[in-house]
Formats: sequence, C-alpha cells, structure tokens
Amino acid sequence: MAEQTVRGSCLCKSVRYEVSTPFTRFGHCYCSRCRKATGGVRSTNIAVPIAQFRWTQGEDLIKRFDLPEAKSFARQICANCNCPIPHASRDGQRVIVPAGTLDDVPPGKPSAHGHWSSRVSWAEINESDLPCTD
Ligand SMILES: [Zn+2]
Ligand SMILES: [Zn+2]
Repeated sequence: MAEQTVRGSCLCKSVRYEVSTPFTRFGHCYCSRCRKATGGVRSTNIAVPIAQFRWTQGEDLIKRFDLPEAKSFARQICANCNCPIPHASRDGQRVIVPAGTLDDVPPGKPSAHGHWSSRVSWAEINESDLPCTD
C-alpha cells in the first residue's frame, strides 16, 4: 500500500499536524484515564512511529501533561483552545494521535475495543463489530 499522509488540527486550527501511514495501531480505548482525558466514553487513538509525524503549525502553543502515577499516560492540548492534540510517548518512540482531531479521512478503521471491561455501564456501543481486548 502506498504511503498516505493525513492532516489534523485542534479546535481553533492554531495547531496543525501531518501523520503518515501505515499506522501501528488504530483503536478505541475505554479505560478510566481515557474517559477523563476526552470527557467521553472512550478515546480513539492512532499510534505511529515518531518519524511518521510532524507539526506543521502552532508548535509553540503545545502544552503537555504527564500523569505522574502512570507508566506512559500523557496528554497534550492546544493552549489556545484546550483541545487534545497528538503527543509523543515518554520514550520518544511513538506519537499518539487522537483520531477525532484528523481533518482528512484516515485509511482503515479502528481494529479493536481496548480496555472493554473498563467501559462505563451507560456506554451504548455495539461491540459485536470489533474484537474486545483488555
Ligand atoms: Zn487550538
Ligand atoms: Zn485508555
């Protein structure tokens, strides 16, 4: 498959980025940290090697938070609109991209419901379409 580049941005469009395929991971996560981080019932993230990601605008607005008690959980936002934006893993090897911040349609679909057993009881999502993992 030919390499494809998809673009994304924050809510106010000050921060913009590009990410290239192939994706290492593209999936939903229902863990409690992702619920807090997104304010929704799940996150949907894409992971890529760091070489496949670049900021194209607004890098100076990026604000990072590393959850102290977590091994790797982190979050980055645009300091102007507070929208979640991609962040590098703590080891600097990967970038985690919140899929909802993409402006282009990514190739493929999420492949799994991660931390499915941690979901809230009111998450009305049909799990039959994808494998559920913990
Ligand atoms: Zn913004
Ligand atoms: Zn999670």
